[in-house]
Amino acid sequence: MAKGFSLNMYPWIYVAKFSDNKWSENYIEQPHKTPAEEASLSEEALADLLLKRNTIPGIPVITYTSQYGNGCFEGLKAFPQPDGSLKIFRPDENAKRFKNSMEGLYMPGFPTDKFMESVKAVVKKNADIGFTVKYDKAWEKDNFLSGTSVYLRPFALTEPGIGVNISTSPWVITITTPVGAYFGAGTSGAVTTERIRATPKGTGNLKANSNYVISAIAKHEAIQAGFMEAVFLDVEERKYLEEGSSANIFCYLKSGTLVTPDLGDTILPGITRKSVLKLASDMGIKTEERKISIDEAMSDSLEMFVTGTAAGITFLDSLQHKGKKVVFNNGKMGNVATKLLAKLKGIQYGMEEDKYDWMVKV
Ligand SMILES: *Cc1c(COP(=O)(O)O)cnc(C)c1O
Repeated sequence: MAKGFSLNMYPWIYVAKFSDNKWSENYIEQPHKTPAEEASLSEEALADLLLKRNTIPGIPVITYTSQYGNGCFEGLKAFPQPDGSLKIFRPDENAKRFKNSMEGLYMPGFPTDKFMESVKAVVKKNADIGFTVKYDKAWEKDNFLSGTSVYLRPFALTEPGIGVNISTSPWVITITTPVGAYFGAGTSGAVTTERIRATPKGTGNLKANSNYVISAIAKHEAIQAGFMEAVFLDVEERKYLEEGSSANIFCYLKSGTLVTPDLGDTILPGITRKSVLKLASDMGIKTEERKISIDEAMSDSLEMFVTGTAAGITFLDSLQHKGKKVVFNNGKMGNVATKLLAKLKGIQYGMEEDKYDWMVKV
């Protein structure tokens, strides 16, 4: 159950629609059996049920989203706590970013209070009928790398349309699914890609659907070549680190400084990125948000890792660029990445004090 990043959608979903200048909201209970009954279904019968659940009544197929990638989304997680409750990590930040992404596409922005209310409610409605994740003490042994959580995917879909256009009356839908680790065990090498994820004045700083085609292609090519992750460089000089395929990137340098590329219109402002910067500086690690060249990253990094809601903090054991490869920390997850991971996951899974008030109870 809950391996990787597969879609095993929970029954309750949230659907809002903007028309006549207001949002009308609904919670919909999609077809389901009890979790125990579903667990004993044949693979085929379960796939059939999951397809029904993924078919949302009243949602059209031909839209600006399906035709032109004009849409945006969020990703956040609810973490099971030792006391049996569930807490969502920094949903207020996702709420702001979602509104910003929608407005960046000239859609009506989804109100942050409705976002907060609906993400909590949809997790709770599913938990109330047994579709949830329970805390497991065994996760503590590997800093929760094997931990499971409830992933939330709010997204905006446009009204029907075939011409290239902006959206004035979108839907906002939130679905949830259990998830485990995003990057599988095994190789964790990265390779730079010649492809360009985002360009100045483009949409790289929005969580816009259209950005992810290039990421998917680049990641596929990296995997085909025997790596786990693709690393993008900037478009103008082809010299500075930008991001992983859908995660922010960090270098811990020999000087004792933790560096991540500064935000601009080609970097997605990750909430994990922001949290890692805060945790690191509170641990006494010097942090810098600035341009970092591939040459500096390769010659001066003791550790490299990528961060994101799905990726968590994923150590890169090596980085290859133009045929030259460097291995970090003998290929073992480094001290700084390990300390940050323990702290972040500890807060998320309720083992460390949440002194920043990041966790929101559902
Ligand atoms: C979502 C995303 C991230 C990570 O953001 P988080 O808020 O930490 O999940 C980084 N880069 C890209 C391109 C993303 O889409």
